[in-house]
Amino acid sequence: MLKESDLERYASQLIMPEIEEEGQSILLKSKVLIIGAGGLGNPTAIFCSAAGIGNIDICDHDNIELSNLNRQIAFTVNNLGLSKSIKLRDYCLNLNPNLKINSIVNSFDNKFPINNYDIILDCSDNIKTKYTANTLAHKYNKTLITASATQFEGQLAVFKSGKFKNLPCYECIFPQDQHQQTNLNCREIGIIGPVTNLISSLQVTETIRELFIGKSFKKDQSFTKNTLAGNLLLYDCIKQEITKIKIKKSLNCNICK
Ligand SMILES: [Zn+2]
Repeated sequence: MLKESDLERYASQLIMPEIEEEGQSILLKSKVLIIGAGGLGNPTAIFCSAAGIGNIDICDHDNIELSNLNRQIAFTVNNLGLSKSIKLRDYCLNLNPNLKINSIVNSFDNKFPINNYDIILDCSDNIKTKYTANTLAHKYNKTLITASATQFEGQLAVFKSGKFKNLPCYECIFPQDQHQQTNLNCREIGIIGPVTNLISSLQVTETIRELFIGKSFKKDQSFTKNTLAGNLLLYDCIKQEITKIKIKKSLNCNICK
Protein backbone atom coordinates (compact mmCIF):
# COMPACT_ATOMS: atom_id res chain seq x y z
CA MET A 1 0.00 0.00 0.00
CA LEU A 2 1.24 3.45 -0.89
CA LYS A 3 1.38 6.31 1.59
CA GLU A 4 -1.26 9.03 1.32
CA SER A 5 1.32 11.54 0.03
CA ASP A 6 2.50 9.07 -2.65
CA LEU A 7 -1.08 8.48 -3.81
CA GLU A 8 -1.30 12.22 -4.39
CA ARG A 9 2.19 12.73 -5.86
CA TYR A 10 1.84 9.93 -8.40
CA ALA A 11 -1.91 10.31 -9.00
CA SER A 12 -1.53 11.05 -12.72
CA GLN A 13 0.45 7.85 -13.24
CA LEU A 14 -1.41 5.36 -11.10
CA ILE A 15 -4.82 6.43 -12.40
CA MET A 16 -3.92 4.53 -15.58
CA PRO A 17 -4.87 0.83 -15.67
CA GLU A 18 -1.40 0.00 -17.03
CA ILE A 19 0.20 1.28 -13.80
CA GLU A 20 -2.17 1.55 -10.79
CA GLU A 21 -0.93 1.42 -7.21
CA GLU A 22 0.87 -1.87 -7.74
CA GLY A 23 2.90 -0.51 -10.65
CA GLN A 24 3.87 2.56 -8.65
CA SER A 25 5.00 0.29 -5.80
CA ILE A 26 7.23 -1.58 -8.27
CA LEU A 27 8.81 1.71 -9.37
CA LEU A 28 9.37 2.81 -5.76
CA LYS A 29 11.15 -0.48 -4.96
CA SER A 30 13.32 -0.44 -8.10
CA LYS A 31 17.00 0.48 -8.31
CA VAL A 32 18.69 1.98 -11.35
CA LEU A 33 22.21 3.12 -12.16
CA ILE A 34 22.65 6.23 -14.30
CA ILE A 35 26.08 6.35 -15.94
CA GLY A 36 26.87 9.97 -16.75
CA ALA A 37 25.40 13.17 -15.26
CA GLY A 38 25.67 15.28 -18.40
CA GLY A 39 23.23 16.24 -21.17
CA LEU A 40 21.47 12.86 -21.10
CA GLY A 41 22.02 12.02 -17.44
CA ASN A 42 20.40 15.28 -16.28
CA PRO A 43 16.91 14.80 -17.76
CA THR A 44 17.07 11.03 -17.29
CA ALA A 45 17.75 11.41 -13.55
CA ILE A 46 15.09 14.12 -13.26
CA PHE A 47 12.38 12.05 -14.99
CA CYS A 48 13.34 8.90 -13.04
CA SER A 49 13.02 10.89 -9.81
CA ALA A 50 9.76 12.53 -10.82
CA ALA A 51 8.29 9.14 -11.78
CA GLY A 52 9.21 7.75 -8.35
CA ILE A 53 11.90 5.23 -9.19
CA GLY A 54 12.87 4.66 -5.59
CA ASN A 55 16.63 4.04 -5.71
CA ILE A 56 18.84 5.94 -8.11
CA ASP A 57 22.64 5.99 -8.23
CA ILE A 58 24.30 8.63 -10.42
CA CYS A 59 27.89 7.99 -11.48
CA ASP A 60 30.06 10.78 -12.92
CA HIS A 61 33.54 12.07 -12.05
CA ASP A 62 33.24 15.38 -13.91
CA ASN A 63 32.67 18.95 -12.71
CA ILE A 64 30.17 21.48 -14.09
CA GLU A 65 31.38 23.94 -16.74
CA LEU A 66 29.66 26.95 -18.30
CA SER A 67 29.54 25.22 -21.70
CA ASN A 68 27.39 22.42 -20.17
CA LEU A 69 24.48 24.72 -19.42
CA ASN A 70 22.85 24.64 -22.87
CA ARG A 71 21.65 21.11 -22.08
CA GLN A 72 22.43 20.08 -18.49
CA ILE A 73 19.25 21.55 -17.10
CA ALA A 74 19.70 20.71 -13.42
CA PHE A 75 22.72 23.04 -13.18
CA THR A 76 23.01 26.80 -12.84
CA VAL A 77 25.83 29.36 -12.98
CA ASN A 78 26.11 29.00 -9.20
CA ASN A 79 27.21 25.38 -9.66
CA LEU A 80 30.23 25.96 -11.89
CA GLY A 81 33.24 23.89 -10.80
CA LEU A 82 31.15 21.63 -8.56
CA SER A 83 30.58 17.88 -8.99
CA LYS A 84 27.95 16.93 -11.59
CA SER A 85 26.77 13.79 -9.83
CA ILE A 86 26.43 15.56 -6.46
CA LYS A 87 24.56 18.59 -7.85
CA LEU A 88 22.29 16.37 -9.95
CA ARG A 89 21.52 14.26 -6.89
CA ASP A 90 20.71 17.45 -4.94
CA TYR A 91 18.37 18.66 -7.68
CA CYS A 92 16.55 15.32 -7.81
CA LEU A 93 16.22 15.12 -4.02
CA ASN A 94 14.67 18.59 -4.00
CA LEU A 95 12.18 17.37 -6.56
CA ASN A 96 11.43 14.13 -4.71
CA PRO A 97 12.92 13.96 -1.18
CA ASN A 98 11.43 10.53 -0.41
CA LEU A 99 13.73 8.66 -2.79
CA LYS A 100 17.16 7.18 -2.12
CA ILE A 101 19.47 8.98 -4.55
CA ASN A 102 23.24 8.60 -4.32
CA SER A 103 26.03 10.29 -6.19
CA ILE A 104 29.12 8.31 -7.13
CA VAL A 105 31.94 10.74 -7.91
CA ASN A 106 34.00 8.33 -9.94
CA SER A 107 34.53 7.04 -13.46
CA PHE A 108 32.54 4.03 -14.56
CA ASP A 109 34.93 1.16 -15.26
CA ASN A 110 34.93 -2.63 -15.53
CA LYS A 111 35.26 -3.01 -11.73
CA PHE A 112 31.97 -1.21 -11.09
CA PRO A 113 29.59 -3.39 -9.00
CA ILE A 114 26.45 -3.46 -11.17
CA ASN A 115 24.85 -6.56 -9.72
CA ASN A 116 22.48 -4.73 -7.35
CA TYR A 117 20.66 -2.77 -10.04
CA ASP A 118 17.46 -3.65 -11.87
CA ILE A 119 18.43 -1.59 -14.91
CA ILE A 120 21.58 0.15 -16.13
CA LEU A 121 21.02 3.48 -17.89
CA ASP A 122 23.92 4.46 -20.08
CA CYS A 123 23.92 8.25 -20.45
CA SER A 124 27.63 8.51 -21.16
CA ASP A 125 29.07 10.55 -24.00
CA ASN A 126 31.96 8.28 -24.92
CA ILE A 127 32.19 4.96 -26.69
CA LYS A 128 34.64 3.40 -24.23
CA THR A 129 32.14 3.69 -21.36
CA LYS A 130 29.39 2.30 -23.60
CA TYR A 131 31.49 -0.78 -24.35
CA THR A 132 32.26 -1.28 -20.65
CA ALA A 133 28.57 -0.91 -19.72
CA ASN A 134 27.64 -3.42 -22.42
CA THR A 135 30.25 -5.97 -21.31
CA LEU A 136 29.17 -5.77 -17.66
CA ALA A 137 25.43 -5.74 -18.42
CA HIS A 138 25.80 -8.86 -20.57
CA LYS A 139 27.96 -10.62 -17.97
CA TYR A 140 25.56 -9.91 -15.09
CA ASN A 141 22.34 -10.45 -17.12
CA LYS A 142 21.22 -6.85 -16.65
CA THR A 143 18.94 -4.84 -18.90
CA LEU A 144 20.96 -1.98 -20.41
CA ILE A 145 19.27 1.06 -21.92
CA THR A 146 21.79 3.00 -23.95
CA ALA A 147 21.23 6.58 -25.05
CA SER A 148 23.41 8.83 -27.14
CA ALA A 149 23.03 12.21 -28.81
CA THR A 150 25.25 14.43 -30.91
CA GLN A 151 24.54 17.48 -33.06
CA PHE A 152 20.94 17.05 -34.35
CA GLU A 153 20.63 13.28 -33.83
CA GLY A 154 19.99 10.82 -31.07
CA GLN A 155 19.84 7.06 -30.56
CA LEU A 156 18.22 4.77 -28.05
CA ALA A 157 18.38 1.00 -27.63
CA VAL A 158 17.44 -1.60 -25.01
CA PHE A 159 19.80 -4.56 -24.61
CA LYS A 160 18.94 -7.80 -22.82
CA SER A 161 21.54 -10.13 -24.36
CA GLY A 162 22.49 -11.66 -21.00
CA LYS A 163 18.90 -12.71 -20.28
CA PHE A 164 17.87 -13.77 -23.77
CA LYS A 165 20.47 -15.51 -25.91
CA ASN A 166 18.70 -14.60 -29.18
CA LEU A 167 18.86 -10.84 -28.53
CA PRO A 168 21.79 -8.66 -29.67
CA CYS A 169 24.11 -6.60 -27.48
CA TYR A 170 25.62 -3.15 -28.14
CA GLU A 171 28.70 -4.65 -29.77
CA CYS A 172 26.57 -6.65 -32.21
CA ILE A 173 25.70 -3.28 -33.80
CA PHE A 174 28.93 -1.39 -33.08
CA PRO A 175 31.77 -3.94 -32.98
CA GLN A 176 34.82 -2.58 -31.17
CA ASP A 177 37.32 -3.77 -33.77
CA GLN A 178 35.43 -2.03 -36.60
CA HIS A 179 34.31 1.06 -34.79
CA GLN A 180 36.52 4.08 -35.06
CA GLN A 181 37.25 4.98 -31.45
CA THR A 182 37.24 8.72 -31.96
CA ASN A 183 35.90 9.51 -28.51
CA LEU A 184 34.73 12.96 -29.56
CA ASN A 185 32.42 14.52 -27.02
CA CYS A 186 29.52 16.92 -27.39
CA ARG A 187 31.65 19.99 -26.93
CA GLU A 188 33.86 18.99 -29.85
CA ILE A 189 31.14 18.12 -32.35
CA GLY A 190 28.15 19.94 -30.93
CA ILE A 191 24.68 19.23 -29.51
CA ILE A 192 21.47 21.13 -28.86
CA GLY A 193 19.74 20.59 -25.53
CA PRO A 194 16.28 19.59 -26.80
CA VAL A 195 17.79 16.58 -28.58
CA THR A 196 19.35 15.16 -25.39
CA ASN A 197 16.11 15.88 -23.53
CA LEU A 198 14.02 14.01 -26.07
CA ILE A 199 16.27 10.96 -26.05
CA SER A 200 16.27 10.98 -22.23
CA SER A 201 12.48 11.10 -22.17
CA LEU A 202 12.40 8.04 -24.41
CA GLN A 203 14.99 6.36 -22.19
CA VAL A 204 12.88 6.83 -19.05
CA THR A 205 9.73 5.62 -20.84
CA GLU A 206 11.60 2.42 -21.66
CA THR A 207 12.95 2.23 -18.10
CA ILE A 208 9.43 2.22 -16.64
CA ARG A 209 8.34 -0.36 -19.21
CA GLU A 210 11.35 -2.62 -18.58
CA LEU A 211 10.97 -2.39 -14.79
CA PHE A 212 7.40 -3.67 -15.21
CA ILE A 213 8.47 -6.37 -17.68
CA GLY A 214 11.22 -7.48 -15.25
CA LYS A 215 8.57 -8.06 -12.58
CA SER A 216 6.14 -9.70 -15.05
CA PHE A 217 3.71 -6.92 -14.11
CA LYS A 218 0.52 -6.73 -16.22
CA LYS A 219 2.13 -8.91 -18.87
CA ASP A 220 -0.79 -8.83 -21.24
CA GLN A 221 -1.28 -5.07 -21.36
CA SER A 222 -0.16 -3.12 -24.40
CA PHE A 223 2.48 -1.09 -22.52
CA THR A 224 4.31 -4.14 -21.21
CA LYS A 225 3.61 -6.46 -24.14
CA ASN A 226 6.03 -4.45 -26.27
CA THR A 227 9.76 -4.10 -25.74
CA LEU A 228 12.28 -2.06 -27.66
CA ALA A 229 14.92 -4.79 -27.21
CA GLY A 230 16.18 -5.95 -30.60
CA ASN A 231 15.58 -2.52 -32.14
CA LEU A 232 17.46 0.74 -32.47
CA LEU A 233 15.55 4.02 -32.33
CA LEU A 234 17.09 6.81 -34.38
CA TYR A 235 15.95 10.40 -33.99
CA ASP A 236 16.82 12.96 -36.64
CA CYS A 237 15.82 16.50 -35.71
CA ILE A 238 16.68 17.94 -39.12
CA LYS A 239 14.17 15.68 -40.89
CA GLN A 240 12.01 15.52 -37.72
CA GLU A 241 11.83 11.74 -37.94
CA ILE A 242 12.07 8.87 -35.51
CA THR A 243 12.99 5.59 -37.18
CA LYS A 244 12.90 2.16 -35.54
CA ILE A 245 15.20 -0.39 -37.13
CA LYS A 246 15.51 -4.08 -36.28
CA ILE A 247 18.94 -5.14 -35.12
CA LYS A 248 20.25 -8.67 -35.33
CA LYS A 249 22.54 -10.61 -33.08
CA SER A 250 26.00 -10.91 -34.62
CA LEU A 251 27.34 -14.45 -34.79
CA ASN A 252 30.86 -13.01 -34.54
CA CYS A 253 30.20 -10.74 -31.53
CA ASN A 254 33.05 -10.84 -29.04
CA ILE A 255 30.68 -10.24 -26.12
CA CYS A 256 27.49 -12.24 -26.62
CA LYS A 257 28.08 -14.96 -29.25
ZN1 LIG B 1 26.77 -9.00 -29.14
